Amino acid sequence: MKKLKFTPSSSDRWMSCPASVKLIADIPKPDTTIYAKNGTACHNVADVCLKKNKSPHDFIEKKIEVWATPKNDYIPFEKSMAETVQTYLDELALLRKEYPKAKYTSEKKLSITPVPRLKINGVVDYNIKQRFGDIVVVDLKAGVGVTVDPSESTQTWLYAIMAINNQWDEYDKARMIIVQPNEKYGDTRKEHTMPVSDLKQWYYDECIPAIKLALGDNAPFGPSEKVCRWCPALPTCKAAAGHVLSAAGQPIEFDPRQPQEFTNAEIGQILPIIDLYKKWSSAVTAYAIDELRQGRPIDGYKLVRGRANRVWIDEEAVQKLLKRLKVKVSDMFTKKFKSPAACEKLLPSDKREKLKPFIDKPEGKLQLAKESSKKPAVSIEPAAEFNDDFDFFE
Ligand code: SF4
Repeated sequence: MKKLKFTPSSSDRWMSCPASVKLIADIPKPDTTIYAKNGTACHNVADVCLKKNKSPHDFIEKKIEVWATPKNDYIPFEKSMAETVQTYLDELALLRKEYPKAKYTSEKKLSITPVPRLKINGVVDYNIKQRFGDIVVVDLKAGVGVTVDPSESTQTWLYAIMAINNQWDEYDKARMIIVQPNEKYGDTRKEHTMPVSDLKQWYYDECIPAIKLALGDNAPFGPSEKVCRWCPALPTCKAAAGHVLSAAGQPIEFDPRQPQEFTNAEIGQILPIIDLYKKWSSAVTAYAIDELRQGRPIDGYKLVRGRANRVWIDEEAVQKLLKRLKVKVSDMFTKKFKSPAACEKLLPSDKREKLKPFIDKPEGKLQLAKESSKKPAVSIEPAAEFNDDFDFFE
């Protein structure tokens, strides 16, 4: 078995489901996504800007080296990434004014040893230490994806604990700030402050006991919609399957004397199960395809090819052939007008405004979202939208 990993970024999972730590120990790390690579490039540039007093705009169109799985890569640094980094640097500049005498670190690798011989490592994006005052950790989330709330993010709490480095008595309060410049529907800056004594209590009463459970025999499983969806063991985990299938197989009490249709409250209880069921079924299918590709049989299943469209092997050669066969050039091509975004790129930035009156943005398809989603609820006339297409979940 490989080394057991307790990364801060997966702390929600291993705290809720201690058994997951051993279950995923032998699962290879997935390839780094382009979104994660872009995020790493933003962190790398921010760090250089802080240490060498540069502007992120100096890096636009340069290739930034990022560490990634299976191998390191070079990512082109785009203008939007420079703007993301600038928002983060602006926040740090404000904090430095607030704590002129404090110590600062950027992209610093820190660790804690919650139990003997176990180290949890993490890179803390930015840390401010004001002895006998505040400990501040700032976390840059460069992506557009999941909204992170520092009042619930155990990852950020662990970063603060790493920064405290067992010197609990040297700080009064921990400020945990998440800068998420591309957050579309909520605040791009979120802060949670808690007394260091509360953080210490959480660490000793909840975090360390979960780690001890994970390291021991018979660690408990804690399947839930929140943690299983991100767990690499999802396709093969029996606890997750049991959770999904037993929820799906709940006997429905049927009493002909009672109303025979679900109430909306009951539908509200079924939807989260459907959401996890869909995630679980796609993960199991992807796992089965991968096993068959690797030559490991799955009882009763084989790989087949889906439908595919024909493609040209050599477009230039075909065009020459068609010309020889007297086909008009204008008949060979379909002219398509470019999208608003593509046409805007044809103009210098000071002339793009002229296109604005010609651009309309139709409303997006209706989607079902959880009440907790940051997207604003849509108010519509029920009959007017009756025939609309809709998606199940955002
Ligand atoms: S899939 Fe869910 S239940 Fe299974 S190990 Fe992962 S988090 Fe735990």
